[in-house]
Amino acid sequence: MSRLVMKFGGTSVATTALMDRIADRVHTLKQAGHEVLLVVSAMGHETDRLVDLAAQIDYSALDGRQESDVLLATGEQVSISLLALSLMKKGVPARSFQGHQIAIHTDAAFSRARILSIDTERLEAALSDGIVPVVAGFQGVSPEGRVTTLGRGGSDTTAVALAAAMKADECQIFTDVEGVYTTDPRVVAGARRLGQVTFEEMLELASSGSKVLHSRAVELANKYAVPLRVLSSFVEGPGTLITSEETMMMEAPLISGVAFTADEAKLTIRGVKDQPGIASRILSPISEANIEVDMIVQNVGADQSTDFTFTVAQADFEQAQRLLRQISEEIQAGEVLGDAQIAKLSIVGVGMRSHAGVASRMFEILAAEGINIQMISTSEIKISVVIDEKYLELAARALHAGFELESSSD
Ligand code: ADP
Ligand code: ASP
Ligand code: MG
Repeated sequence: MSRLVMKFGGTSVATTALMDRIADRVHTLKQAGHEVLLVVSAMGHETDRLVDLAAQIDYSALDGRQESDVLLATGEQVSISLLALSLMKKGVPARSFQGHQIAIHTDAAFSRARILSIDTERLEAALSDGIVPVVAGFQGVSPEGRVTTLGRGGSDTTAVALAAAMKADECQIFTDVEGVYTTDPRVVAGARRLGQVTFEEMLELASSGSKVLHSRAVELANKYAVPLRVLSSFVEGPGTLITSEETMMMEAPLISGVAFTADEAKLTIRGVKDQPGIASRILSPISEANIEVDMIVQNVGADQSTDFTFTVAQADFEQAQRLLRQISEEIQAGEVLGDAQIAKLSIVGVGMRSHAGVASRMFEILAAEGINIQMISTSEIKISVVIDEKYLELAARALHAGFELESSSD
């Protein structure tokens, strides 16, 4: 007998007919003697619909994140109740749980909250009564008792955190593709499913835009040694196991995957004095506003003034631009430029550690397509570039082919 946490994403619970199929699968597992805990997302594109609904009230001048979290969390409330009903209809005792009912405790960073702890008492009681808990993904409760959400894609994190708290044998993430691929299979036709991928690589892929897993989920699975697998809800198969580096084959491929996102925007403040402390004068007010800065480039010109450029999430672009204009006045710098039509493209692989020349190969491949690189950043196992958004797909395909990801083995 094993204890499994199974998470089903939006496409996997898009209709009640699909929920019926999940109920059948759970029924079979229960009969085989397994303990099952379910985590579900909102149905289909419901969360997008709710985001658009909130946007109809222009609340940008106030901090409306608490109330928008209350709204966004309703999507999962609908799917947990429907799935619990499907299970009960099949004769499987089930009970839905919202985040606060368990409780899933988070910090108070509304719209991007982090899970602090999960009370396991009610879930253990349900399991020992033979009941399948159906838990709402993506939501929790703040220290003051308010509804929080974990950021888009956060149901994966709920599942992994639950698997860690409940000491599950495996956390299975069921989605609409057959596992983790070398790149997004919806964009690059030749993308190949990986049999396994290391936590470290998966973390870099996820935080660079591969939304197949929420990056916080990968972080938690690594931290609490939760066996994590990504599988298709629609096609039988082994999926992808996320694993530690020691268990991987000795000769890792040079590059494991290509990740990308068009969800970032670039800001430049010109004519900044080249003096100590200036980077912090520019970036402190940005981070105080809870805006995360990703890539940074600073160039000193001949006249000792610098152009300071950085990227932020597209959603934070306007607020960051407003703040930067104020900062520019305060530090007597020049104009503020913004560009939301950019994309970030990253190649990831532990094999990079032992091979030189990966970056220059990447730049050659992009140059051969006539694609200009605007910014570059590197880590031990990742190289990222910022390019014009209109070349994103071309660049992803070129890198995928150029690093021979279609033909290398698992
Ligand atoms: P869910 O609703 O099940 O959580 P998501 O839409 O969040 O599903 O994540 C699955 C999607 O992630 C896939 O449909 C695919 O387009 C995208 N994706 C991006 N990069 C990758 C990758 N490297 N491997 C697999 N899927 C990827
Ligand atoms: N429903 C949420 C979203 O669409 C959480 C998730 O699906 O993981 O972002
Ligand atoms: Mg997802």
